[in-house]
Amino acid sequence: MSMSWEQLEQYQPNALRMIANSIQKGRVAHAYLFEGQRGTGKKEASLLFAKSLFCLNRSTYKPCYQCINCRRIDSGNHPDVHIVAPDGQSIKKHQIDQLQEEFTKTAMESNKKLYIIEHADQMTINAANSLLKFLEEPSSNTIAILLTEQLHRMLNTIISRCQIISFKPLPTRILTAYLEEQGIPRHIAVLAAHVTNSRQEALELSQSDWFAQARKIVLQLYEALNKSYIQALFVIQDQWLPHFADKEQMSLGLDLLLYLYKDLLYIQTNKEEKMIYDDCIAELKQYSFLYSQKRVIENMSAILRAKARLNTNMNPQLLMEQLALQLREGSTFV
Ligand SMILES: [Zn+2]
Repeated sequence: MSMSWEQLEQYQPNALRMIANSIQKGRVAHAYLFEGQRGTGKKEASLLFAKSLFCLNRSTYKPCYQCINCRRIDSGNHPDVHIVAPDGQSIKKHQIDQLQEEFTKTAMESNKKLYIIEHADQMTINAANSLLKFLEEPSSNTIAILLTEQLHRMLNTIISRCQIISFKPLPTRILTAYLEEQGIPRHIAVLAAHVTNSRQEALELSQSDWFAQARKIVLQLYEALNKSYIQALFVIQDQWLPHFADKEQMSLGLDLLLYLYKDLLYIQTNKEEKMIYDDCIAELKQYSFLYSQKRVIENMSAILRAKARLNTNMNPQLLMEQLALQLREGSTFV
């Protein structure tokens, strides 16, 4: 979890520059909102920020990682640094009230206080209103860092009181390179880097046999679809349904299938360097003449529609069989 300033800087240079500026110029705001997709390093950045502010041997704006304060923040037991996370589905009012109480109680004893609210968009209305009051009367030494993956779900009244720092998604080539450095074969690394933006999640996925097998099944289905509907049904029955057993796995399987048709489009438009299944270029080319560009795009929409239907509790077998029909025959059967 714990990342050094230098490590995170490679991925989020702009965000860290803004934080460094706040510290160096002595202009630390009362409230920050770190927004960006999952896996973009918001929490890591908030902890680095906290360490920099509390570090006893700070040089310029970077923490030392060694002093008692740095170590206490890393282990989650610094008395002046609090982290609030959703309790179940949401962040409740009593969690914010508790935080506030804690801070008022100890305000006499020490100087700075910092709190981090993870998934701040999951605050209940009551919790958000409590927080708002808290933000409105900033005791001069309290710093709030709110983290969110869904900025659009935050109340405007809260957003307007925060300095917003945006965390950009990791470029897939950087994530792919990271996975390859960890010993992941390239064909798996590229695919995993497209599936998720989180380094941790991408690494776990690419190390699992399940993911390698998922990739094989997707290629098998594509191959079967190019031969006959019956063969495709066999692959769905024998391989696909047992492997992609729940909604989440099914959704990932459909993403993998979508990337395959996207690759066909790259082949047809001479952008092969963008391909994801680039080790299968010969196999993909072998059938690419079967499809017009229009058909490829139609097939991609059919896969996206199937993905949307996952949430309607449609029977998975029926969903896949209909999709196979559309992928073979065009989208006349929607
Ligand atoms: Zn330190």
